[in-house]
Amino acid sequence: MFAELQLDKQLLRALEKLGLETPTEVQSQTIPLALAGSDLLVNAHTGSGKTAAFLLPSLHKLLTEPSKLHGTRLLVLSPTRELARQLFKNCKDLIQFCPLQVGLMMGGDEFKYQRAMLRKDPEILIATPGRLLEHIKHEHAELSNLEVLVLDEGDRMLDMGLSDDVLEIVRACKPERQTMLFSATLAHTGVRKIAQQILRAPKSLTLSTAQDQHSNIRQQVILTDDAAHKDRVLTWLLSNEKYEKALIFTNTRDYTNKLGGFLRYHNIEAGVLHGEMEQDARNQIMTQLRYGKIKVLVATDVAARGLDVKGIDLVINVDMARSGDDYIHRVGRTGRAGASGTAITFISAPDWNLMSTVEHYLQIRFEKRAIKGLEAAFKGPKKIKSSGKAAGSKVNKEKRKARKEAAEMPDEAPKTKQRLRDKKNIGKRRAPSKEGSTTPEKTNNKSKSAAPKTPAKPTWGEPSAWQKDGWAPMKKKKKTEE
Ligand code: AMP
Repeated sequence: MFAELQLDKQLLRALEKLGLETPTEVQSQTIPLALAGSDLLVNAHTGSGKTAAFLLPSLHKLLTEPSKLHGTRLLVLSPTRELARQLFKNCKDLIQFCPLQVGLMMGGDEFKYQRAMLRKDPEILIATPGRLLEHIKHEHAELSNLEVLVLDEGDRMLDMGLSDDVLEIVRACKPERQTMLFSATLAHTGVRKIAQQILRAPKSLTLSTAQDQHSNIRQQVILTDDAAHKDRVLTWLLSNEKYEKALIFTNTRDYTNKLGGFLRYHNIEAGVLHGEMEQDARNQIMTQLRYGKIKVLVATDVAARGLDVKGIDLVINVDMARSGDDYIHRVGRTGRAGASGTAITFISAPDWNLMSTVEHYLQIRFEKRAIKGLEAAFKGPKKIKSSGKAAGSKVNKEKRKARKEAAEMPDEAPKTKQRLRDKKNIGKRRAPSKEGSTTPEKTNNKSKSAAPKTPAKPTWGEPSAWQKDGWAPMKKKKKTEE
């Protein structure tokens, strides 16, 4: 029970109102360490409740150790605007009975309003790095009295090239502070590097592995050919699958726009979300999805992290994610907080090896699915006949060709056996040898199999992120799911 964690009464009251009674694993492990003041390096999978894991102890500190100093006391950095917005909403929910203020600062919003917000001196600031840095440079933001710094989705932040910004912000923060770094993976070299630079004697918590994740999500693949075939399969799925809300992922902004238009043309009310859109348009689309005005959202990976929209029970990767990390984050948009969901990934020929890599890493086998009447011509990589040791070797192919050519020679031509080495040596001076014999050649008989190579184990981790329209208690899950 949360009450056993000795949290401030105002926070316990908010938790009760939000219907959150029992801490999740990440919460029960992180909160006592954070309350003791340790720096933390934590990985926990998406939907595990990690947001409250860092917010609750930080807010408790602000409440129980009041300060009269000016400036931000708790700063939470988020890689994306959508996640920042959710963190802001979750924070507001948790501080609803507390005398604390929270401000939101991210790119795309009016600079002057953010400046006005900073003048009000909120104790808590949720920000994306780029915009915060601008305010630091203009001396609007005051971090010299900062007590707690949280980096959410640390690996994503680094993958987005934000490490310089983050380090510059950290330099503006009070050195004697508590720092918590949450990351989908701790194996990420960048995360380990930045952790060394900004954490002091951190306690490291690994709460789940990629293999533990998403046991409540049915993960299927459908073989596909070209874009037109993908379009047909997608329209079929959206018209025949049972779902409340569906999230469709593509790899490019262009394709996202095209697909959104295509679906609307086929009377499927679909919204589009990608990083090139104005912030207002992005917010509008998210609101429409949250409130069920649209059931389908086509998005790039900008929507893969952090979003916790209630009712997303279908994720379709029209393009296979570019990396294992991206795959798991996309899939994690469904099956949130113990609910179940389905993730369907389209696999065309170039995606096969990546699919095997993902299966290998997650130690699962994707459920292979085909839609009657829409089966792909692509059936997976061609099987190599294993009869001859060197069945696929170049030398043997040439030998077979030579044999075939010999067999096709007109009948009147004398059927002399033309050896490969003879063919290869045409025009070359013959080494002195016995008449009729040729210099023995060494051939490389190693077979080059066309089967997918055993994939290198990717650097994976698990995701993190969150929120929907507010807090919703997780359904009770089996232990393996956590
Ligand atoms: P997060 O991993 O922080 O994105 O949280 C995922 C979901 O879990 C959110 O929808 C939260 O409302 C929910 N949640 C967080 N903590 C708890 C808890 N202790 N009990 C039940 N649900 C929770």
